[in-house]
Amino acid sequence: MIYPYLCRDCGLEYDVEKPVAMYDSPEICIKCESNDVQRIYHANYAILGAKSKDAYYDVSLGKVIMNEKDRKETMKIKDVIEIGSETKESLHKHTVVAKQKEKQKQWDDL
Ligand SMILES: [Zn+2]
Repeated sequence: MIYPYLCRDCGLEYDVEKPVAMYDSPEICIKCESNDVQRIYHANYAILGAKSKDAYYDVSLGKVIMNEKDRKETMKIKDVIEIGSETKESLHKHTVVAKQKEKQKQWDDL
């Protein structure tokens, strides 16, 4: 894991790579060697952490899905259409539109 730190003496922000088990181990500033350093909490890191906890194996996609974005991208790559969140009516509408387009294409080809 990479943990970001801030030196309260010289203001340097730097990353320390260490195992999760070493999370609370004291650090010294890599620039001024002060031991008055503070671990900083980056919102980006937090989101990443929270999302990866949500990772699950999606049976229908045959892949471990990391988050909602990953799921949507995987669906796009695998050409999977999302059902379940849509009503039957809107699904039907999609089918009708697709059929109409197909018909139009046939006419255009003539
Ligand atoms: Zn420093």
